[in-house]
Amino acid sequence: MTVDTKSKNTGDTVKSATQNDLFKAKTNDNEQGLLKAEKDAVTVPFGAKYGGKAARAKLREHAILSTTKIGGSIAAVYWMFAYGSGWVEWSAFLVGYFLSMVGCIVGYHRYFSHRAFETSKPMGIFIAILTQSAAQGSALHWAANHRRHHAMTDKVGDAHSPHFDGYGKPLKGFAKFHHSHVGWLFDRTTTDLSIYGKGLVDDEIVMFAHRTRWFWYFVSAIIFPTLWALAFAGPEAIIGTILIAGFLRIFAVLTVLQSVNSICHLFGSQRFKGHDTARNNVLINILTMGDGWHNNHHQHPRSATSGLVWWEFDPCANIIRLWEKMGLVWNVKWAPRYTKDESGEWVQEKPKAPAKQAA
Ligand SMILES: [Zn+2]
Ligand SMILES: [Zn+2]
Repeated sequence: MTVDTKSKNTGDTVKSATQNDLFKAKTNDNEQGLLKAEKDAVTVPFGAKYGGKAARAKLREHAILSTTKIGGSIAAVYWMFAYGSGWVEWSAFLVGYFLSMVGCIVGYHRYFSHRAFETSKPMGIFIAILTQSAAQGSALHWAANHRRHHAMTDKVGDAHSPHFDGYGKPLKGFAKFHHSHVGWLFDRTTTDLSIYGKGLVDDEIVMFAHRTRWFWYFVSAIIFPTLWALAFAGPEAIIGTILIAGFLRIFAVLTVLQSVNSICHLFGSQRFKGHDTARNNVLINILTMGDGWHNNHHQHPRSATSGLVWWEFDPCANIIRLWEKMGLVWNVKWAPRYTKDESGEWVQEKPKAPAKQAA
């Protein structure tokens, strides 16, 4: 058993993890998990837990999510060839995709993980519902995993690194893509909430999202497509719409979102070099509606936008900006804009008016 305490936390939210945190982490269930890790001869990086109830719950959750999403998607493809599909199914797919992606990028990522803005309780609940309707797992665990990713990017202990597996073993070849894309969801490590769950486990909106997540998955995959089919076609369109605009759409959102963890740490350009492997990838940016400027995001993780120059479009940031104008969200953290100086180096533009800037 080894616990890596040497790696330096560099994330935005978790500024430092102390020995005290480590002590607190080593209690009850975790103690047993660590003993089991010793028996299983695997390492447990700092900020992670091994085995126990948390790992069983993680494996169960992702087994159910994967089975239903992949099973539903295979059925959707069969349905398309066997019975065909039309504008009813695909319009529901597009509307559902848009709402789910907003739930992922604005909800899971920018609000719950990075607190890029503040909002009221009703708006927080609305965002929580949108988030869990994307069905990418509990907002609590998503945000804690993501904070660990930022705190330990590319180091042992990163929740989904393309360089090390969950136990700190270096990865090579296709394993780099596989682990960061999906493999990390199926190992026996979990993020230690006593370290990365601060401000999450005691947040009633995060816990509302966490506790009601299966209900919103059901609404998103079954109820929404059913109502859409009944409104625009009839009962005969229900099954096809559930399969295509329910399961296939949620699986598509999952695949694209996970590509931020895998592709955006392997392929793309880097404006900010030397810190980590995060990259800007235009294709992932289109598909995620703004979260593909991942190199920018690692430079300004708390910002409500990841686009830093005028042509770096970020539709999810535009939604947050609209909400800010409407007074629905406030204290929004905006990264500084960038421009090239005479020597071709990227430099921050001077702000036109005093504005709150993200770190
Ligand atoms: Zn990253
Ligand atoms: Zn992030």
